[in-house]
Amino acid sequence: FPVERIRNFSIIAHIDHGKSTLADRLLEITGAIAKTASNKQVLDKLQVERERGITVKAQTASLFYQHDGQTYLLNLIDTPGHVDFSYEVSRSISACQGVLLIVDANQGIQAQTVANFYLAFEAQLTIIPVINKIDLKNADPERVEKQIEKVFDIPKEECIRISAKLGTNVDQVLQEVVKRIPPVDDLFKALVFDSTFDHYRGVVANIALFGGRVSRGDKIVSAHLGKSYEVNELGLLRPDEHPTETLYAGQVGYVIAGMKEVKEAQIGDTLYLHKQPVEALPGFKPAKSMVFAGMYPMDQSEYTALRSAVEKLMLNDSSVTVQKDSSLALGAGWRLGFLGLLHMEVFNQRLEQEYNASVIVTAPTVPYKAVLASAKLIKSRRAVQKNMFYIDEHRVMIKYIFPLNEIVVDFYDQLKSMSSGYASFDYEDAGYEAADLIKMDFLLNGRPVEELATIVHKDKAYSAGKAICERLKESIPRQMFEIAVQAAIGSKIIARETIKAYRKNVLAKCYGGDVTRKMKLLKKQAEGKKKLRRIGNIDVPKDAFINVLKRK
Ligand code: GDP
Ligand code: MG
Repeated sequence: FPVERIRNFSIIAHIDHGKSTLADRLLEITGAIAKTASNKQVLDKLQVERERGITVKAQTASLFYQHDGQTYLLNLIDTPGHVDFSYEVSRSISACQGVLLIVDANQGIQAQTVANFYLAFEAQLTIIPVINKIDLKNADPERVEKQIEKVFDIPKEECIRISAKLGTNVDQVLQEVVKRIPPVDDLFKALVFDSTFDHYRGVVANIALFGGRVSRGDKIVSAHLGKSYEVNELGLLRPDEHPTETLYAGQVGYVIAGMKEVKEAQIGDTLYLHKQPVEALPGFKPAKSMVFAGMYPMDQSEYTALRSAVEKLMLNDSSVTVQKDSSLALGAGWRLGFLGLLHMEVFNQRLEQEYNASVIVTAPTVPYKAVLASAKLIKSRRAVQKNMFYIDEHRVMIKYIFPLNEIVVDFYDQLKSMSSGYASFDYEDAGYEAADLIKMDFLLNGRPVEELATIVHKDKAYSAGKAICERLKESIPRQMFEIAVQAAIGSKIIARETIKAYRKNVLAKCYGGDVTRKMKLLKKQAEGKKKLRRIGNIDVPKDAFINVLKRK
């Protein structure tokens, strides 16, 4: 395929502004998928994505588009919108020459619109602003165009107004992709932007070709390790794998070349031909773990199975970091690092859904650096305002420096509800700062609950301890004996709640009559028990811990 007729582009947007819907329309128009109801959001392949209506992993599709009597190859890379997954966004962007920046015609510019714009801007990509949902009654595309001009310095004439839902002006979007986004360059040079492990075929590397061509049987080298491989299989992603003989500059596809471990096809690495060495591509910022949590099998006999599930899942999500860990109460497990709380929840959900694993997750913590006692003389402030910028008369963008532990669990949810959904939020790392912190433990009838041990700011210890005890009391069902719920700093108890005794008897309702009903109830109770965690002789529902940590 001639290089001058290939375009690599990506769609970026704040969450819910319509990326997936637009991607579906583009796939339909170009005939990559049939137009049926069941084909909604085809790029969202994972079950967790469909259930939560979010995109977690970037997906790729190659589209063939007729324009001025010529066939063009348009490679579309869909990107996640949530703050936790901006790593996936930056990685998709580095495989492109241009982006469609979607902005909702009613909501206007939001936090992730700004964050995603800068990712594309810094990568020097062509940015095509697209105003979506113009079919909405309260759409105000004029106002959004003004915002785009003011905040991004893009002339408002460059905006395309569309309705992804109805398909209005979607064809124009493809025309502008062809006209405005530059084609790709002649030495084979490809960026690895994703890699997965397949049990039968080994490592499958998703690559974007920045120049030249590569064919089956070619000898290629990975710049990072300097190792050579022979290409066994390659092909396009539309979005499923379509094997071909050759991939050309500008194409996005997959390659299988006898790599046995994912680290041989590191994300951000460059591949080139053995006989034509080139300089490595700049790659991109590695993902940085912001939230850490311990993960243990519900039952130690499941350790090996869980380890294999965690390893497999990590092959598909290289932004998770892992370290072995063990605890007296919970046995052998791991300490995992995630990009945010949603990322952590999605990872757990995928473990359960895709690998049928049952795990205990400890309270998430954020990274702290321990410093000598004298340096703590410095009093830390909790949030410091950095700057403020008016997007228009109605909207303002404010930057703060926050301690990460203050925003990690539920800040986003609270901000949304306080502002009736109007405020939006994005974050980046601002480095470490000294703070006055202490470790707080929680006890059930005197036994420490490892999952909940946490680090808190000294000024917040009493209120946090009390609140968590109260929420624990609500989350733990009454049992046949009384339970004392306590918060402690060292040996000092700072808060206490009591869960009164209660006798639960599932069969009491049956009046001894129906046997099948009795069996059903017993089965249900047994299933309920599977999701419990025993602390001493106390049964705690598995999801109690995450619920306890989320403030109301
Ligand atoms: P994403 O999070 O950016 O991928 O957004 P989605 O494509 O999942 O869309 C979010 C919601 O907006 C869904 O309920 C869509 O049906 C809806 N939506 C997307 N495009 C349009 C549009 O042009 N008009 C209207 N009215 N709704 C839209
Ligand atoms: Mg989506």
